[in-house]
Amino acid sequence: MVDQSVKNQRHQARMQRLKEKVDAKINAAQEERGIFIVITGNGKGKSTSGFGTVARAVGHGLSAAVVQFIKGGWECGERNLLQSHGCEFAVMGTGFTWETQNREADIAAAEAVWARGKAFLADEKIDLVLLDELTYMLSYDYLDSDEVLDAIVNRPPHQHVIVTGRGADKNLLEIADTVSEIQSVKHAFEAGIKAQKGVDW
Ligand code: ATP
Ligand code: MG
Repeated sequence: MVDQSVKNQRHQARMQRLKEKVDAKINAAQEERGIFIVITGNGKGKSTSGFGTVARAVGHGLSAAVVQFIKGGWECGERNLLQSHGCEFAVMGTGFTWETQNREADIAAAEAVWARGKAFLADEKIDLVLLDELTYMLSYDYLDSDEVLDAIVNRPPHQHVIVTGRGADKNLLEIADTVSEIQSVKHAFEAGIKAQKGVDW
């Protein structure tokens, strides 16, 4: 059996090499600007991640705005909390496309809420914009993809943007700085467990 002190020495040497690598990377990353993040995939945690980042920003005194595409008019824990901390919300409020079953009404609602989103993306006073469930607006062709991409690309340089939703289109991925794909390993819903207040909404 290897002596504990030998193990400890090896560990320290490994950690020292790792620290050198990490420090070199940290020193190399010097640019400061707004970043564009896409959180996509079929697993749970996309909107949670987006709202977690909004909470993080608001906690630092930054100003944030949220556009909720798709979400219905129902209560939502993150909205209750963040609105009371000065975070502006624009809510599409039509619910899921399989509930409305009306393409024209969905498009009108998408365009109306997108007008607010576009204004957020042009507003220098806003540090972070969350476009929750935007991906569906592009995959259903409810919004003009070039217009959305232009607004994101031409936003104020310091402004961060987060887009969430399944099936993010390749143009969004291309212009993003950070992309995470959340994979579903299992989900409580598949075992018959109802969406839970405070965890799912
Ligand atoms: P969350 O808002 O919990 O972070 P999400 O944004 O990743 O979830 P959406 O596709 O927006 O996922 O789904 C919204 C709702 O559907 C949430 O209540 C979430 O718990 C649930 N959900 C997410 N992923 C799955 C899945 N793989 N199977 C079943 N339900 C899911
Ligand atoms: Mg979501």
